[in-house]
Amino acid sequence: MPENITHDTVILGSGCAGLTAAIYTGRANLKPLVLEGHEPGGQLSITTLVENFPGWPEGVQGPDLIENMKKQAVRFGAELRLAHLSSIDLSKRPFALNLGKETIHARTLIIASGASARWLNLPSEQALIGHGVTSCATCDGFFASGKEIAVIGGGDTAMEEALFLTRFATKVTIINRSEKFRASKIMLDRAIAHPKVKFLSSTVVEEVLGVEDKDVKGLRVKNKVSGEAYVLPVSFMFLAIGHIPNAEAFRGMIDLDSEGYIITRNNVFTTLNGEILPGIFACGDIQDRRYRQAITAAGSGCMAALEVEKYLEEHGR
Ligand code: NAP
Repeated sequence: MPENITHDTVILGSGCAGLTAAIYTGRANLKPLVLEGHEPGGQLSITTLVENFPGWPEGVQGPDLIENMKKQAVRFGAELRLAHLSSIDLSKRPFALNLGKETIHARTLIIASGASARWLNLPSEQALIGHGVTSCATCDGFFASGKEIAVIGGGDTAMEEALFLTRFATKVTIINRSEKFRASKIMLDRAIAHPKVKFLSSTVVEEVLGVEDKDVKGLRVKNKVSGEAYVLPVSFMFLAIGHIPNAEAFRGMIDLDSEGYIITRNNVFTTLNGEILPGIFACGDIQDRRYRQAITAAGSGCMAALEVEKYLEEHGR
């Protein structure tokens, strides 16, 4: 339904960062509107057990954590809408957000649209996300205890995650599609030196086995040079082939770094040509490619919300 009201704050994204911002701005009586975007619930909604979010000694299922955060935000007056941004005009105030069939207006904006893990996009891989296929070693490494696993990728992240996963797994096979590894020499050397780490280069994954069992049973891989195809018996596949920040809609309006992440000052202030953009804040993975944790995303969501409150107060609201 078209609306004429101007929202005090609109939050883009309903992952950990966006929902924390919604809880805080809701509690401040700002009636935040949360546009859930393409991936409602964010990365947590596609994980299983989260064991490192403080306050859950037995762990909590990622989707349950998100559901609880949504309930908490709604309890304080947040409105959650399954909608995403078609385009945005930040040149005028209030900001105009085009949602396709309607345009809404906002005095402040919290951008929490995250970064999506890059996947191989195989149907079998997609079917097994959360069941042995994962893009988060920190979240799911523990579940690989005593198992043989594969890490896909040849960059620093793949090396770092493979080394981290040796704490749990009995054997870690790094599968790189190219012959050459993109990783820095020091990281590659560390991985090569580890007795549990093995390498397959010029190798692609063609299928993840185990869809019917809802559990990874192995990978059908192929050597691109020899053409040899065979099954690698692993119980987990960790993707480490990069992330894609969901910030393209802001290109030219907000400063992005060379990889498309929003550049922030003091974690949440956005800039254009190096100058702070008043009233526009970014939080969570869209501005963080270093930590990428639920708790750090939640922390920056809180900061963005507090800055929104301060900004509105300073502007007479
Ligand atoms: P990256 O360096 O861009 O490497 C991505 C890897 O994924 C490459 O091996 C690439 O293969 C592979 N890949 C991409 N798309 C693929 C696909 N569809 N199928 C199969 N393989 C695919 O990414 P990253 O490792 O995440 O690192 C990102 C940045 O963070 C880098 O600058 C890195 O140095 C930095 N980083 C630093 C550290 C550290 O210093 N401790 C740790 C982590 C990350 P190709 O080479 O064939 O394209």
